[in-house]
This record gives sequence, C-alpha cells and structure tokens, in this order.
Amino acid sequence: MTERTLVEQTVEMIGQVVTIKGWVSTKRDHGKLTFIDLRDRSGTVQCVGYQKMGELTTESVIEINGLVKARPEKMINSNSPTGTIEIDVQEYAVLNKAKELPIQVEGNGREVNEEVRLKYRYLDLRRERMHKIVQLRSDFYAALRNNLAQKSFVEVETPMLTKSTKEGARDFIVPSRLQPGKFYALPQSPQQYKQLLMTAGVENYFQFARCIRDEDLRADRGFEFTQLDLEMSFVQREDVMSTVEEIVKSSVKAVGGQLQQEQFPVFSYQEAMEKFGADKFDLRTEQEKKEGLLAFAWVVNFPFFKKVDKADKAEVQDGKSGWTFTHNPFSAPIPEHEEWLLKGENVAQILTTQYDLVCNGYEAGGGSIRAHRPELLKATFKVMGYSDAEIQASVGHMLEAFEVGTPPHGGIALGLDRYVMILANENSLREVIAFPMNSSGKTAVMDAPSEVSAELLKELSLKIVG
Ligand code: ASP
Repeated sequence: MTERTLVEQTVEMIGQVVTIKGWVSTKRDHGKLTFIDLRDRSGTVQCVGYQKMGELTTESVIEINGLVKARPEKMINSNSPTGTIEIDVQEYAVLNKAKELPIQVEGNGREVNEEVRLKYRYLDLRRERMHKIVQLRSDFYAALRNNLAQKSFVEVETPMLTKSTKEGARDFIVPSRLQPGKFYALPQSPQQYKQLLMTAGVENYFQFARCIRDEDLRADRGFEFTQLDLEMSFVQREDVMSTVEEIVKSSVKAVGGQLQQEQFPVFSYQEAMEKFGADKFDLRTEQEKKEGLLAFAWVVNFPFFKKVDKADKAEVQDGKSGWTFTHNPFSAPIPEHEEWLLKGENVAQILTTQYDLVCNGYEAGGGSIRAHRPELLKATFKVMGYSDAEIQASVGHMLEAFEVGTPPHGGIALGLDRYVMILANENSLREVIAFPMNSSGKTAVMDAPSEVSAELLKELSLKIVG
C-alpha cells in the first residue's frame, strides 16, 4: 500500500508527490479543470484535476496521487490551513462511490430535522462541528484518566447484567434464557459494586460507567448515560470534595475550559434554596455567560428523606412508610444525625452527607459518604418501611460485606455527557452523544425497540399478553 499522507501534512510537502485519501467535500467543474476539496480527519485541501473527474460525486471516498504545489501569491486562501498549496492530481481512484445523500453534510446541521439527523447519524457526524465534539469528548476523557492515574485511582469494570441498585428510577430487565422466569437488571449505577471494591481493598476506584435508567424521558435525555464513577476509602466528605475538585479543574482546563472561580464555593441546601430557589443554579453574570465560563459550586447538607411522590411508582415501591431517600439510600447521615437515623426519629430533619456539584445551572455530579456499618444501612431501609426480610432480600449482600472489614468510604459520580455539553457550549445532550436516542426512546440509525420472533420468546419462556 502506498504510504498515506494526511491532509494537514501536505502544506509541508511542496514539490513532493503524495497519496491522500478521504471524502469529496466539494467539486467544481470548470471545463477542462475540476477542483476537488478533499477532506480527511485532519482537514481539507484543494486538488486540481486536468483530466475529467466528472463521475466523482460529493461525499464519495477517493484516493488521489498528486504533486503538492505552492499556490501563486494571489490564489492563496488565508482562511484555510492548507490555503498556500494545492495538489495537482496525477491519478485518482474511487474507493466508495456516494449516491445522492439524504442529508447535507456541510454546515452545522441545526436546520436539519432531528429525526432525520439521527436516522443518518453516520452522515450527520461527518460535519466539522460534530467531529470537534467527538474529539473534545475523547480529549476530556483522556485528561480525566490522566488526572485519576496521577492520584493512584484504579480503573475497574463492574457487571452490566446484575441486580437492581436503587437510584430512584425503574430498572431495565433482561430475561435469563438458562433460568426461565428469572431476570437480570441493567445497572442504574455501579453503586453497590464500587462499595464492594472498597471492601476488597481497592481504596481508590474509578470507572467510565454506562448507567441505564428507565426514567420518564426529558426533552434531551435518553435512557442511558455515562458517568465518571469513583469511590475512595478512609475519607471524609471534604476529602472527596477536594480530590474531585482538583481532578475536575485540571481536566476541564486541559480541554480549554475557563473557570469563573478557582475555588468552588460551597452552599448548604437551605442556603441554595433561599438564595436561588433551587439546588441547581447558575452563578454566572450575563457577561460571563457570553465568555463561556464554567461556574462550579458544591451543595451540601441535603435532607436525607422526602415524602414519596404517589404518582411515581418507583418511589412508592421504595417508600413503603411514606418516606424515601432524596439521593442515595447507601449514604450515611451527617455524624450529628446518626442517632436520629438509628432510632428512626426526626426523619424530616435528618441531613445526609450528600454533596452535589453544580455547573452553569446543571447538576454536574453527586455523591456521599456511605453508611459502612450494617446498622446504619439497615436503619435507612427501616425508615423507608422495609421489613427485616425485605432488607435481607434487597441489600443482604451489602450487610454481609459490612461485617468482614469494610473501611469508611465515599465517592461521587459525574455526569460526563453534561460536562461535554457545557464544554462544547451546546444546549442539548443529544449533540454530544455519538448515537443518542430520540425523545421517545427510539435508538439512532437502528430501529429499536423492536419486536422479536415467536421462537425467541419461546426460548426465553416469555409470553406477550395484552
Ligand atoms: N451512585 C450515585 C449516582 O449514580 C453517585 C454516587 O453516590 O456515587 O448518582
């Protein structure tokens, strides 16, 4: 195979014959001359064909052998990084011909109907704006991994086929073929496994975790999302907050993000409600919004429990007593309120160790110090109205692990889709997910959910009723 030169390298190669490969971005026929803008992942370059290149269609994939030539002074295009050169085509080959496209790849795509963009997402992603977002996401992940490694965090994967972990949403369930009538749940988060890794002595864990929650779909949100999930042993609330703050600051800056404040301010839930009327708020001035600054803040001292919302089946199921958790049933209360929790007293006043990270009006993360002693976790489920047998069935495995040497621990999860959305200055999560779902839960490109055959249902011992 001839060695491939990337478009961005051609500017340095005047006088040389190169082989470039990519997509026909535009084609202009001028009689004997054809001008092609060839695009690859590194940029676009003008190619001039003296022979006919009439059969080339835009967005076809081609290969060109050609001589890199300096452009005459008055032909230089200062808007393009390769505007000082052009390539004289000697030979070319079509590697994959494009027929007429269902959507335009040029422009930012915002004028195109979203359903159509998602159906042809592989074309939609070709546009420069989308390429930049895909790259930004990758760079941000690399920066996070780098910062986590520097702090001795260990990356561990946890199961996708598992048992329910409560995060306040419904589970997606998966039937077991080998054990008819039994089901796995897809993880709403790795919460319990990451705590068990603390029992296992991992001390500092992280994972880029896919989380799957059957929630009522909000305007820009699908059923699955990605969290940076982490957990640390032998820590108190302030330790987790300061470690996370350092990692977030450094990673955000590594991809060009600018912070409004170097030190994230901390508000109590009560202060936040009084000051902003909500536990998510935007600290930026109009000017700072224009400048695209990131304004982070912590919120702490949330109530542990709330009255159940009778319209929400998942909440009603958890809160048999009329109370359910506000954030996470595995959290510890603040130390001053441990006694109340153990006795099931003053339930409305019990505060949790939960900390939420807010950025530009969005919730950008949340976590807590955990109840690592069995009696505390049991007390939480008691407050929610679970019987002893129900507690055993639901979190018996955690209680067992808490009796064999589990260190005090706490952690957090950061909603990465949201970070990328803020960093890319976009308003919708769908813009920063390669293959997002639409607002009614249909997958991009492929038509799911869809029906399955009668044979498959039989093999799974399932019957569709109604
Ligand atoms: N499991 C929690 C969540 O997914 C985060 C945490 O407390 O670490 O929101």
